[in-house]
Amino acid sequence: MMKKQTTVTTLPRVLIVDDDAMVRLLAISALGQLDLDLHEAGDGAEAVELFRQQTYDIVLLDLEMPLMDGFTAARKIRALPGGESATLIMVTGLNDADSIEKAYEVGATDFVTKPINWAILRQRLRFVLRAREAFRSLQENEAKLLESQRIANLGHWEWDIVNNQAEWSEQVYEILGLTPQSCEASFATFLEAVHPDEQRLFSNAVSAAVGKGESYVLEHRIVRPDGEERYVVSQGQALPAEPGKVERVRHVVQDITERKRTEEHIFQLANFDSLTGLPNRELFKAYAGRLLAAAKRDGTRAAVLLLDLDRFKRINDSLGYKAGDQLIKEVAGRIASCMRECDLAAKVHAMDDLSYSLARPGGDEFMLLIRGVDRADGVARFAQRLSEVLAQPLSVMQQEIFFSASIGISMFPDDAQEQDLLIKNADIALGYAKDSGGGCFRFFSEEMNDWANKRVDLEARLNHAVKNNEFQLHYQPQISLDSGRLTGFEALLRWWPEGRDMVPPNEFIPIAEETGVITEIGAWVIHQACKQLRAWKDQGYDPVPVAVNVSARQFVDKDLVKLIKEELSAFGLDPGLLELELTERVIMRSLEETGVKLRALKEVGVKLSVDDFGTGYSSMNYLKRFPLDALKIDRSFVMDLVTDSNDESIIRAIVAMSKGLGLHTVAEGVETDQQKELLSSIGCDLMQGYLYSRPVPAEEAESYLHRVSG
Ligand code: C2E
Ligand code: CA
Ligand code: CA
Repeated sequence: MMKKQTTVTTLPRVLIVDDDAMVRLLAISALGQLDLDLHEAGDGAEAVELFRQQTYDIVLLDLEMPLMDGFTAARKIRALPGGESATLIMVTGLNDADSIEKAYEVGATDFVTKPINWAILRQRLRFVLRAREAFRSLQENEAKLLESQRIANLGHWEWDIVNNQAEWSEQVYEILGLTPQSCEASFATFLEAVHPDEQRLFSNAVSAAVGKGESYVLEHRIVRPDGEERYVVSQGQALPAEPGKVERVRHVVQDITERKRTEEHIFQLANFDSLTGLPNRELFKAYAGRLLAAAKRDGTRAAVLLLDLDRFKRINDSLGYKAGDQLIKEVAGRIASCMRECDLAAKVHAMDDLSYSLARPGGDEFMLLIRGVDRADGVARFAQRLSEVLAQPLSVMQQEIFFSASIGISMFPDDAQEQDLLIKNADIALGYAKDSGGGCFRFFSEEMNDWANKRVDLEARLNHAVKNNEFQLHYQPQISLDSGRLTGFEALLRWWPEGRDMVPPNEFIPIAEETGVITEIGAWVIHQACKQLRAWKDQGYDPVPVAVNVSARQFVDKDLVKLIKEELSAFGLDPGLLELELTERVIMRSLEETGVKLRALKEVGVKLSVDDFGTGYSSMNYLKRFPLDALKIDRSFVMDLVTDSNDESIIRAIVAMSKGLGLHTVAEGVETDQQKELLSSIGCDLMQGYLYSRPVPAEEAESYLHRVSG
């Protein structure tokens, strides 16, 4: 590769002064993209010492530092040789008007606020460098003056105080939107062009400079005759005719409107979500911090609400991201109008800026902060209303979408004092709302905290459970209602985390599903079931099929078919011995893909059954299209079969329809003889339940198997 030709120009020297090594490191990496010669100092004293040894073009100076603070350092640097022409950029705390004023007093050129937005800082340095370049040209070559000034949007003017006369360069007229014909160049004319809100500030700055025989720097707006506002930086130097007697002031004015707009744009990009225009998490937090501080001061309550759409991913997957985006926007609009409409929100509105107390931190999540609430029941009413408003169906691309949202709420100061903890607690409450089926709101409570801690603990343990051999499969027999003979087993997972009691699958399977570790666990289940089938075969038993449960995530895993093939062939098994149970939900999730996947599995030769059938997700019409072998009637129907005639008619219908489709029916959870008799009379094929046997370890399951004769 060719090296870039470098003439021996020296790079602008920049000194980064901050006592926080992390900030220095970040600054160096953020500014590394500009062609700069970067140096650092850990405190004010070190900075002054470095500057004494060699001058710097730009000094980025933190205001709060031990040993010597930024104000002192700035003053000392300004007094050093070469110090007067350095650009001093002060780094101050957020909105700290006093510090900013003081910084200008000690000679700061510009300031940035913490936390530093590096993109904005880079942008500023580019402008500073351009302006410095212009100044340098000015000194070096008079002829380049005008051109340089034009490039830098820089005008200069001199004010003769004694005769009250002024002389403006062409660029000054241009910046102010005036012409030599339309006005008379004077201090008064310039002042008139300054934004009315800032005229006093400007004349005070100039008077102070004149009084002390010093310089001033001020960022302000000007208003052009046509009403357009521009941002400018004015700088001036009082020129004493003799000590203590100032007769002239030389001013420089630079149009920084573009810079401002870019900064605003960057600010917008960095702080707002582009889809909804709502603040993002960072901005929300900054704003919430202020609101909470105010609530703390006047002893009022506040509430943080976290809202998450239920099953959003499914909508997104099935209708496409465009519909998903539209839904998010609609939801944002509904929340905002609900906040306005509710009494509570009206209070928020009157006191604070509503637009900042609602944010979209990402995905399908929203954050709300409500201040000035006295009691939780007011918040509850608001949350209730919000749930109702959100439950209204939405039509997207000629389709009615039904959706709902879960809401988690934590109260300040009851549940937490600090913002981060409030958000965390609201998140726990949200998890709880989701866990209760969604479409509802929950207030945070200490019990939830225990629940959440337990969950986090389980999550961590689950990750190692396979490796630590903490799982075991139990087998529950399936019996023919006709002959009473064993027709197969369902393999059910059991988990004994180290040093703890067994955790039931209903508690850990959903977590494993969410975190994704289910894929690994599911693979182990298939492996283990195949291994057991082989062992029984080797022990001379007449093997019967073993059914394993396949979770949603496992089902869509692209390696599932391959995995099953490999296990079957590794153990030399007849594929018909393995059966997969898929719940209705999983099958109905994405019909097209389901069809493809089911056919691929069928090709391998395994049996396929629909688990928990009747719980309301599928329709027979769809099932017709899929290569299925059996339907398992959900335990809830069997449970009340004898007493509830409605359940009986549902089971009758299911059995009749599955017969029509050529499918077997398996009744789950059969516990009594009565149930068994009734199921038998209805014509159900198989049953599974405590009546015959609970799920048992492999050794016990063997007692149900028959030896192959001979
Ligand atoms: P499922 O697939 O519906 O499994 C049947 C559940 O009903 C089992 O609960 C079983 O022990 C229970 N059961 C069987 N007969 C009776 C009865 O007569 N009365 C009563 N009350 N219950 C009965 P278990 O083992 O606690 O499993 C719960 C669920 O966890 C399963 O429901 C299944 O969805 C899931 N699961 C279990 N093992 C696995 C696995 O290996 N992978 C996946 N993805 N899910 C599994
Ligand atoms: Ca099952
Ligand atoms: Ca089931």
